[in-house]
Amino acid sequence: MNSSPATVEPLVKEQAPFLFLVLFFLVQATVLTVFTVPFSWSLVWVAVASYFLRMFGITAAYHRYFSHASFKTSRLFQFVLAWIGAMAMQKGPLWWAAHHRNHHKYSDTEKDIHSPTRKGFWYSHMFWFLRDDYNDYEAKLIPDFYKYPELRFLDRFHWIAPLSYAVLLYLIGGWAWLVYGYAVSTFFLGHATWTINSLSHVYGSVRYDSRDTSKNNLWLALLTMGEGWHNNHHYYCSSVNQGFYWYEVDISYYILKTLSLFGIVWDLKKPPKKVLEEGLLRDREQKERKLSLQESKQKSKLKNKVGVLST
Ligand SMILES: [Zn+2]
Ligand SMILES: [Zn+2]
Repeated sequence: MNSSPATVEPLVKEQAPFLFLVLFFLVQATVLTVFTVPFSWSLVWVAVASYFLRMFGITAAYHRYFSHASFKTSRLFQFVLAWIGAMAMQKGPLWWAAHHRNHHKYSDTEKDIHSPTRKGFWYSHMFWFLRDDYNDYEAKLIPDFYKYPELRFLDRFHWIAPLSYAVLLYLIGGWAWLVYGYAVSTFFLGHATWTINSLSHVYGSVRYDSRDTSKNNLWLALLTMGEGWHNNHHYYCSSVNQGFYWYEVDISYYILKTLSLFGIVWDLKKPPKKVLEEGLLRDREQKERKLSLQESKQKSKLKNKVGVLST
């Protein structure tokens, strides 16, 4: 299913330019500055807090709000969400959401810009966005948010948010906070986010027939505040919650639900009853299939044993 109001044919190529690759790896290498600071648990908590704050910016803001419009909010809080998302250093909200809408439109086809089954693990994980011809995006993919000048500004100068965040961390806690709260945290935040393009299209279980390779994966859901329920999401992408049942942990949704109690966000879109019932039915069928497979395996084992004893 696709929520994009218009589509633009994506251009899919396989190579990332050399210079971009070098720059990217230099930025990645800043994680090694961790060796310049003596270890302390309080610094680890700074890194973890910074990770989850900005993961929320990616999952709740860039993904669920800007890409799929799965809830509504005020213009001011919309900008706050965009800013927190931009702090994750994954480019601007319009760029991110426009490309993501194409991912849903063309999942796992030749036109999918980051399909691990088509282009391999590393390309889908991180090399696709290093391509200079993906620096831009088509405004008509995202007219619902492109119309706001403040979002266009933040999207164009997206580096302002992470830079000011890094400066703030430095002012609060000096070099140690900059290293743990920014360099270390951003490294893990980036790779965790990208697992949704790479690993969650490879490892996990399939509940719905979403006509692509998306999977549900608890570990990735824990790591990404709920994004690991990717098969659910590909099947019904306009839902604000990606964990469809109470036992599918979805921290971003819990936070959004709490914000809705204070009137900060509203109109949270939920999956229809039909989709939920279909999911339960599929789970039941899968369980039964598994049980009957186990039974037939045990029976054939028993048969073999009896055969060996009687000879
Ligand atoms: Zn996907
Ligand atoms: Zn999506």
